[in-house]
Amino acid sequence: MRHYIALALLVTIFTAPWLATTFPEQADYVFAWMKYVGDQVAAVVAHNPRTIDELQKKYASSTPRKPHKIRVLIVPGHEPDYGGAEFGVLKERDMTIELGEQLALFLSANEKYEVIMSRTKQEWSPVFAEYFDRELDDIIVWQKAHKEESLRRVVTNQTSSSPKVYHNSAPDSVAYRLYGLTKWSNENAVDIAIHIHFNDYPGHGRIPGKYAGFAIYTPEAQYANSTTTRALSETMFKRLSKYNPVSNLPVESDGIIEERELIAIGANNTADAASALIEYGYMYEPQFLNIDTRGLAIKDLAFQTYLGLEDFFNPRGVRSLAATYDTLVLPYIWRRILPETSRELRDIYALQTALQVEGVYPPQGKDQYDCPRTGKIGPCTKSSVEVFQKKYGIEENGVGEKTIGELNRLYSGRSL
Ligand SMILES: [Zn+2]
Repeated sequence: MRHYIALALLVTIFTAPWLATTFPEQADYVFAWMKYVGDQVAAVVAHNPRTIDELQKKYASSTPRKPHKIRVLIVPGHEPDYGGAEFGVLKERDMTIELGEQLALFLSANEKYEVIMSRTKQEWSPVFAEYFDRELDDIIVWQKAHKEESLRRVVTNQTSSSPKVYHNSAPDSVAYRLYGLTKWSNENAVDIAIHIHFNDYPGHGRIPGKYAGFAIYTPEAQYANSTTTRALSETMFKRLSKYNPVSNLPVESDGIIEERELIAIGANNTADAASALIEYGYMYEPQFLNIDTRGLAIKDLAFQTYLGLEDFFNPRGVRSLAATYDTLVLPYIWRRILPETSRELRDIYALQTALQVEGVYPPQGKDQYDCPRTGKIGPCTKSSVEVFQKKYGIEENGVGEKTIGELNRLYSGRSL
């Protein structure tokens, strides 16, 4: 297809001067048409997605003296003051910032990465604010050219299935900014783009909904950035799924979902960078609702995403102490016993996490959706604690001195 466009451009270039001199009154149209064709070709042909091999070599060969860092664009979902889900006082667009900033900290601490954030809680980063202002017309032309090229591929049947998942379609201005982020990424050699979201779905009002868990959206196989993104999505998925349930929304139950229509990850074959969109969980899940666990839960998701990125580049890499458990919740030191009525949410959250490592949480016959890590002691935790006590020969009712002692022996980090 690209060759046909290039041919069309050549024909245009050779015939335009003749057309312009033969029909002088139409010269403006001819030159406008030339520019249009030129823009289309530039948009579609100048496409340089990274292969898995290229990215891994870049990472491996980057040194402090000769840095060629992996450029990661972090896009906290939605706009500084607009859009996204809300549940009670929680706003998705603020939660995505919190996670994005944590992810940026993990990546920036590693000299192999260079991080670009699209926005803060209050505003677009200056480079993007300016880019959206200055480039709006170009973004629109560029986006249209890709769309037309995609439509041609659909007509000639080079494309696969119809989209599987329904997403709210973005209003034009929001869509253009999303396309703008992709165009900017192509022009500025971004290697990886991570779009951060939290989920919700309509109709459950102020009562927490029935779905839980995370999902990663990756570009459909027909797109040029699909293979690399898929590989990255798989390493991130592996880390995230160790402690967090995969979304049980039926269309998300594969965990990694190929998508054709999401602008963020390269709809119409626009993106060079490996581009994944992660829905990190449903906003009303208990670990996000409770103020005592929210910060840690979000930071942990950022940490696991970071480890997933590292795994992509460095499958046999050295692991830090914290990475021993793949979570920031452990190691943990418990300093008090935990009666059923305890409101020590952090202690109980860590207890539930340790029980999960032990393989006894959720208890037999239950799953992660029945028994999320709530930070509160309910039937799930009680049964799991009993199994844990049996396993270690502890005779005790509830989480008393002996159980706390055993937890500290195993999970306070002293034994590492
Ligand atoms: Zn969202």
